[in-house]
Amino acid sequence: MPELPEVETIRRQLNSVLVGRVIRRVEVFTKKSIEGNAQDLVGWEVERVFRKSKIIEIYFLGKERVVIVHLKMTGQLVFDNGEDRVVGGHPTADWVGKLPSKHTRVIIEFMDGSKLFFNDMRRFGWMKIVEKEKYEKELRKAVPDVVDKEFSCEYLEGVFEKSKKSVKLVLMDQDKIGGVGNIYANDALYLAKVMPDRRASSLTKGELKRLWSAVRFVIGEGIKYGGASAANYVDSKGLGGTYQDHFLVYKKDGQECSVCGGKIRKMRIGGRGSFYCPRCQK
Ligand SMILES: [Zn+2]
Repeated sequence: MPELPEVETIRRQLNSVLVGRVIRRVEVFTKKSIEGNAQDLVGWEVERVFRKSKIIEIYFLGKERVVIVHLKMTGQLVFDNGEDRVVGGHPTADWVGKLPSKHTRVIIEFMDGSKLFFNDMRRFGWMKIVEKEKYEKELRKAVPDVVDKEFSCEYLEGVFEKSKKSVKLVLMDQDKIGGVGNIYANDALYLAKVMPDRRASSLTKGELKRLWSAVRFVIGEGIKYGGASAANYVDSKGLGGTYQDHFLVYKKDGQECSVCGGKIRKMRIGGRGSFYCPRCQK
């Protein structure tokens, strides 16, 4: 599943290629993948592409409705102008293969023939055409993303002090903090020297402060490297991000800790693989 840095990366790329493009045609292959009348979009000009948590938001010039996209597990967006591609989301052969494929759910075609493909193997992802005002007031999540200025150390403290759950689970709870998935939670806890199974409310002020800045740091690194993706699609065409080359502990079980030389271990927390250094993390 793409995490915030991956979604932010595709958001930036789409913003650089979609702004000013006018929709000529919308083809829907899978009805449940898009909510709202897709044909209404014909003639609309893209004004700007935004993001809130893991939702990509496409705004249109002078329109009262906005298109929102959630990629969920296997969704991907591919913009193809006939020569180059901008890709994001779940890395599969469709990033580089012929499109449409059997996973293509929606195609938005622009006046110059360029196309935006929404592919989704398992069909949990969605596109929705929603009223802008209602969306901004009611649906756009009120919790801050870790990259927002509202995500202060005090905010994190407030979330943690009320919780009996493990620090890693609370960090990844999207109803409280937006944008920290498994990869970045593991790396942030390692950097902050906090064991992932510690009870969230047990963190000292110093640990909280370290974790708060570690979370922002690793998410920033993720965005800097364009997110993480499967290496084979990165190598072949230069597509996708390279944060996987910069993982600190994620998927490094059995390898040496770069700080103390000890062995990175793995445990499961809430069903997810959790990687840690038993010597460095307390
Ligand atoms: Zn260590």
